[in-house]
Amino acid sequence: MDIINILPDSVANQIAAGEVVDRPASAVKELLENAMDAGASSIQLIVKDAGRTLIQVIDNGCGMSDIDARLCFERHATSKIKKADDLFAIRTMGFRGEALASIAAVAQVELKTRLHDNELGTQVIIEGSDVKDQSPCTCSCGTSISVKNLFYNIPARRNFLKKDSIELSHIEEIFRRVALANYRTAFSFYNNGKLLYDLKPGNFAQRIAGIFGNNYNQRLYHIEEETEPVKVYGYVGKSEFVKRSRGEQYLFVNGRFIKHPGLSAAIERAYNELIPERTYPAYFVLLEVNPERLDVNIHPTKTEVRFIDEQTIFAILRAATKKALGQFSLATEIEFNPSTEIDFTPAPRDYIPSEPKVSFNPYFNPFKGSGNEERKSETRNCRSEGVSAHNEYHNFFDDKPLIINNNQQTGTQRSILENNDFSITRSSTATPINYQNRFIITTMKSGIVVIDQQRAHERILYERILAQRNSGQVAAQQLLFPVNCRFNAADSELLTEMLPELRKVGFVIEPLGQNTFVVTATPHEVDSEKVQDILEKTIDEYKSNMLQKINDKEKSICMSLARQLSVRQGTALKAEEMQQLIADLFSCQAPNISPSGRKTMFIMGEQEIAEKMK
Ligand code: ADP
Ligand code: MG
Repeated sequence: MDIINILPDSVANQIAAGEVVDRPASAVKELLENAMDAGASSIQLIVKDAGRTLIQVIDNGCGMSDIDARLCFERHATSKIKKADDLFAIRTMGFRGEALASIAAVAQVELKTRLHDNELGTQVIIEGSDVKDQSPCTCSCGTSISVKNLFYNIPARRNFLKKDSIELSHIEEIFRRVALANYRTAFSFYNNGKLLYDLKPGNFAQRIAGIFGNNYNQRLYHIEEETEPVKVYGYVGKSEFVKRSRGEQYLFVNGRFIKHPGLSAAIERAYNELIPERTYPAYFVLLEVNPERLDVNIHPTKTEVRFIDEQTIFAILRAATKKALGQFSLATEIEFNPSTEIDFTPAPRDYIPSEPKVSFNPYFNPFKGSGNEERKSETRNCRSEGVSAHNEYHNFFDDKPLIINNNQQTGTQRSILENNDFSITRSSTATPINYQNRFIITTMKSGIVVIDQQRAHERILYERILAQRNSGQVAAQQLLFPVNCRFNAADSELLTEMLPELRKVGFVIEPLGQNTFVVTATPHEVDSEKVQDILEKTIDEYKSNMLQKINDKEKSICMSLARQLSVRQGTALKAEEMQQLIADLFSCQAPNISPSGRKTMFIMGEQEIAEKMK
């Protein structure tokens, strides 16, 4: 008995659809790319319920004839390639002739299209690959495609869709990629009748600002390099605006968004020592290469490409980025300044150390000038008058060597101190060293202490913020000029969810609609110019914490704030600042780990040093 059947087209299309359309965002991608290929100068994207019920793309491109309007839904129907060779010189977005066939196999599609020279257009209605109707219609020049009830005939796939906010953020990401690559085209994007983006045609910088907010351009350096194998143009983020996730990294080749780990590394490596580990710079980079030296057909969704001149392009891209960062001659220098050397002279045997003096200034922030000036110039709507162990500071500026004695410490602190024999003994000339502007090196009775300045400061701020939050007495400052901040739709939703928790740490934020918020008060350490940035990063971390299933909102927000307000690696610290930091660190509950659980310091005792000397 023969058992092989040829599958009907509708089934074959459904199977192929799985490859091309796996969620609303991929249908959006195909439709937007088709509109670009049709030469549109204005494109509208309209979705309902994050694309579940409706995805509509309206363009003013070339339109289609009656016959093409029907043919475009056939598999391998494409106007873009005629022979296999064309694949290698492809300049348009699509070329497989599969997208519309796939979409029509898994949705109810309505196409209206009109050529510019024709008076009447054509309407085609097709459901699950079945043409239900084709008739003349009146419509504007160009094409409008509505994709309704995606996966209506594949319940398994429909059930697999994530909640609307997630599907919407995928659609948004696709929209941003296409809109960035095609900055001369006007785009608008509505979800459930709400206008999320309205982008006018302009230059690349204007497009970036249109998508990410007006102040975004101040965070970027321009890069440009014209060479034979590749033209590089675009923007790379300043090192102080790095993020904890790879969010805003956009690389385009010949107008198409690509993912290329090799070339991304070329950009990231240019930042080398400028940014902390596991943080990522933003970049928006357009590459132009000869299409014949590029293979775009290695992946069905076409975000992965291969370059023939990959190594050269890598080197050029890295050099261009370095140049933008002003990094040309920044070789790692080994600084050896005898005046900051550790003084190893032990205190005389009969020396009796004096008690350390202790004074308090709860608002002192060693990285913002003197605490007193700041207090005067600030307006606060509420503040803590109480002095807790977390914000008191010990005065280390005593001429004499000093010892913090253990009975001033409590709980966890004490045990750490005891275990490490942690009393601090320093001779009068020993100034902590700021090694590579990253580590603080000092001596204690138990040995040489190496402190990671950023992690330590994170710990200090984290405990301070958490304590203020829990006591309900947060040190907030009312802003003289409220700051308006804008976010993308998905982030706006998250921020709305975070508002009550943010309020507890001192942010007073009201939604204004259209993804815009007004900030009227902030925790007092926050610089009002950085509000948008700080909120973005807090959302960013909140997101990544959610992904890692860290559901403790309160902790997540305090951690993230602490990180952002903390002094960075690469910041040179003055002697007093280091001493302050050391003192603050040792008055923390858990001085030896950062809020995210990494070591803040280690101690190398005399024994260990002697071992190494063998
Ligand atoms: P491909 O884009 O790979 O050619 P598609 O299935 O996406 O395959 O589209 C099939 C054909 O339909 C295209 O080659 C093009 O001729 C036509 N087409 C699709 N969308 C549009 C549009 N918005 N405007 C004009 N023509 C279009
Ligand atoms: Mg296409």
